Amino acid sequence: AKKQGGNQYSFQSFVGLTNDRERMEMANDLSRALERNELCLYYQPQYCVEEGRIIGAEALIRWQHPERGLVSPVVFIPLAEEMGLITAIGEWVLRTACTQNRKWQMAGLPPIKIAVNLSPRQLQQDSFVHIISTILLETKLDPCYLDLEITENIDMFETDLVLEKLREIKAHGVHLSLDDFGVGYSSLSYLNQFPIDKVKIDRSFIQKIRSGHAQAPIVSAIIAMSKNMQVRVLAEGVESEEQLRFLMEQQCDEVQGFLYSKPLPVDQLEKLLVEKLTG
Ligand code: C2E
Ligand code: CA
Ligand code: CA
Ligand code: CA
Repeated sequence: AKKQGGNQYSFQSFVGLTNDRERMEMANDLSRALERNELCLYYQPQYCVEEGRIIGAEALIRWQHPERGLVSPVVFIPLAEEMGLITAIGEWVLRTACTQNRKWQMAGLPPIKIAVNLSPRQLQQDSFVHIISTILLETKLDPCYLDLEITENIDMFETDLVLEKLREIKAHGVHLSLDDFGVGYSSLSYLNQFPIDKVKIDRSFIQKIRSGHAQAPIVSAIIAMSKNMQVRVLAEGVESEEQLRFLMEQQCDEVQGFLYSKPLPVDQLEKLLVEKLTG
């Protein structure tokens, strides 16, 4: 689980998992993972609460390590950030997700938004806006079907530069979501400042929704506030019917979580889209 603000998964937390030699090996393996085709994307469906239909999917990266098996992004994304590999990996994720979404649309499947997680380092790249527009041109994906998920652990000194880039990206028609909302100390100021289309309420708040639990008013407040600001709101990590009922009552716009589906490999997500087409 994520901790408050900051760079939650530092190299130190990685050290805790393995010894020095293992860590060096892992870093070395990661530097070759892209060219060796060991990275892949899973897709977790996002549903419109009112219609109960799939309207999007979040791309979540997986690393199929030849000896260790599937490595969690919670482990290797911070390592990639530390090693300066995250921009290359992040660009691969963007290109792969956009290519896949365009493929589904060309196959006549119902169009959905593809959500891609951005590391703060990617937003700091000078060429980031150019990378996005190049990928959109290359893949011919309509920008309105790309949704970029940003977190708020952006260096305060970089805020103006990042803001400028986000405005440019939005001007292209790409959607922006604020991920893990509520866990950072500066959520509210970012919401006010950034040109955000959607807020994703952090899983930690959703998991505390039980009858009469004290977290429920926080969730309803975030939903009400988002509506007042005319921003869409998605609840992540929805696992129970009880949570869903509460979110429906509060008129949350979108949900995502194990209650509906775990992240799925391409062919299984495709099946859901076929079902939507025929059902
Ligand atoms: P995130 O962006 O908050 O993604 C949601 C995480 O919650 C995913 O874990 C997802 O599998 C998990 N999840 C979804 N529904 C539920 C639920 O109902 N219950 C529980 N307990 N968990 C649920 P995952 O795939 O392990 O990813 C972890 C984190 O790794 C992501 O958190 C994101 O910060 C990062 N990540 C994943 N893919 C990428 C990527 O392509 N680029 C970057 N920069 N980060 C990524
Ligand atoms: Ca996310
Ligand atoms: Ca999240
Ligand atoms: Ca989260």
